[in-house]
Amino acid sequence: MARGSKGRKGAGAKAAKTGSAAGKGPAGRGAQTRMVHGGVLRSQFRETAEAIFLTSGYVYDSAEEAEAAFANTRPRFVYSRFSNPTVQMFETRMAQLEGAEAARATASGMAAVFASLMCQLKAGDRVVSSDALFGSCQYILAEILPRFGIETELVDGRDLAAWRRALARPTAAVFLETPSNPGLRIVDLAAVCALARKAGASIVVDNVFATPLLQRPLAFGADVVVYSATKHIDGQGRTLGGVVLGTGKFVADKLQPFLRHTGPALSPMNAWLLLKGLETLELRLERQCRMAKTVAEFLAAHPKVETALYPGLKSHPQHRLAMKQMKSGGSLVSLTLKGGKAAAFRFLNALELVLISNNLGDAKSLVTHPATTTHQRLTPEARAQQGITDGMVRLSLGLEDLADIEADLARALKAV
Ligand SMILES: *Cc1c(COP(=O)(O)O)cnc(C)c1O
Repeated sequence: MARGSKGRKGAGAKAAKTGSAAGKGPAGRGAQTRMVHGGVLRSQFRETAEAIFLTSGYVYDSAEEAEAAFANTRPRFVYSRFSNPTVQMFETRMAQLEGAEAARATASGMAAVFASLMCQLKAGDRVVSSDALFGSCQYILAEILPRFGIETELVDGRDLAAWRRALARPTAAVFLETPSNPGLRIVDLAAVCALARKAGASIVVDNVFATPLLQRPLAFGADVVVYSATKHIDGQGRTLGGVVLGTGKFVADKLQPFLRHTGPALSPMNAWLLLKGLETLELRLERQCRMAKTVAEFLAAHPKVETALYPGLKSHPQHRLAMKQMKSGGSLVSLTLKGGKAAAFRFLNALELVLISNNLGDAKSLVTHPATTTHQRLTPEARAQQGITDGMVRLSLGLEDLADIEADLARALKAV
């Protein structure tokens, strides 16, 4: 027990005993069962729903107990910047779902990405990353890390020869996102992990678009997986959150000290919302993926659409690779309209049910124009390199009736 409390019964006893270290989860039960029961720390009141421990600190029965807690000879909750029962329930449940030894939660997905890299890098290190990344991840790699003497090289994530060239030199870390936001480009996880391992690199995968249910980077050789829990895990537009998963050793030696002393802690209230999100993740995602596939087929056949990208469609240039490493194509579709930015804006403005918002994975279907929002900061050349055209629109499918969404899309396309 790394940081737990004592005297718990049932699922809580197991969680408390193993801390965030979860392996296959409670008695090897199924993923859905783990998402409902995993990590529960039930209090003396035997509440059904997870308790929200809105407390910054904890009290000690004696000065000796406080001394032992700080020396970590008697592990217990000490201060909510580094551990909190509600946050720990979320971390344990995520670790069980991912099949990771340990997890730590953060206040946002970007805090998770930043911590996953900064906790293990130092001046003089070299990082190789795929170039098609979420805008803020790209900023960390291209702008922040070099300021601290860390060399970063961005490669086309689809190009194994480019990875091989970049990883011919010793490398401390590899960072990648697959499918990428918003171009839905796929990185060959098994092949890149093998190359990275030979270069001595620790492999960090941003798995937001796939979610823990559709793709398991650890099974392909990744060392660390990061999520913006803001997306499908909450999935109801209520809170920001992030999580980093890896081995117990990585978390204890690298991640936990970094988080403890820099403080991007997840609020217990938000951890509770994310616990509730996990309970329904599978139901929501299955419905969203079904809607995304049908909508992608509809869009691909539409005369005003130049291309409709969806990893689950045969027309996606990396469809076979996507299906080799993902259970389904996911809940996002990227389409390119004939007529560039003007056509894209007319389309967005004509939608009534699908809302213009840069969030994704939500219960509400959302649409965004990446070139002028999430990827506005990039030069036109960098956008072109990532396949982000002025006519590209990213669609995140929600939980509405399929017929209503299709009707809204068809009507908006007519207005283009
Ligand atoms: C949204 C997102 C992030 C950042 O997460 P926040 O919770 O918004 O900080 C990182 N990576 C990807 C792929 C994302 O979509």
